[in-house]
Amino acid sequence: MRLILLGPPGAGKGTQAQRLVEKHGIPQLSTGDMLRAAVKAETEVGKRAKAVMDAGELVSDEIVNAIVAERIDQDDCARGFILDGYPRTLVQADAVADMLAERGMFLDVVIELVVDDKALVGRILKRAEEARAAGQPVRKDDNAEVFDERLREYYKKTAPLIGYYYANDLLQQVDGMAAMDDVTAQIEEIIAATLR
Ligand code: AMP
Repeated sequence: MRLILLGPPGAGKGTQAQRLVEKHGIPQLSTGDMLRAAVKAETEVGKRAKAVMDAGELVSDEIVNAIVAERIDQDDCARGFILDGYPRTLVQADAVADMLAERGMFLDVVIELVVDDKALVGRILKRAEEARAAGQPVRKDDNAEVFDERLREYYKKTAPLIGYYYANDLLQQVDGMAAMDDVTAQIEEIIAATLR
């Protein structure tokens, strides 16, 4: 199974992706996590991405497409994967379609977490607060100022993917404002119906 979780920052993509990993035994491919690991390791990609990420803007399509192309060739992706935070632009959406086609693969479904924007900044601040309380590092972009820019980037560059996947008959929507377990249940229903 290959699926995409789509939605603005703070919609709950990461949380739901982790639940899917546990239930279905396929990996979560989060380009945000991969880029943060590259920044931490101070690789060439990490050096190029850091300032852009800190500002809440999008890293270049070229960089993220290359990261994903390499990742999906690893053995643990053979049975499928969950794309979390990728694709984020129409160029990336075309790139992933090509990548999969070249490998004789296809996307099963794109699930959009539909949320109320007004709730998002609160969720992001809560995530930062929980990390702080647990003694974990707080993401540099999890604050109100950078969040505004991340949301603008989402509307400018990522939200058009909703129409793109709708037109490709791949889009399914869930109520991302429901309780976490309800969101998971909605996602599982869609997966069951898709694989049926
Ligand atoms: P995330 O953890 O998904 O919120 O991503 C954190 C940051 O990493 C984003 O604000 C972007 O700067 C960068 N990033 C992650 N995924 C992508 C992507 N698919 N395209 C461009 N930039 C990305």
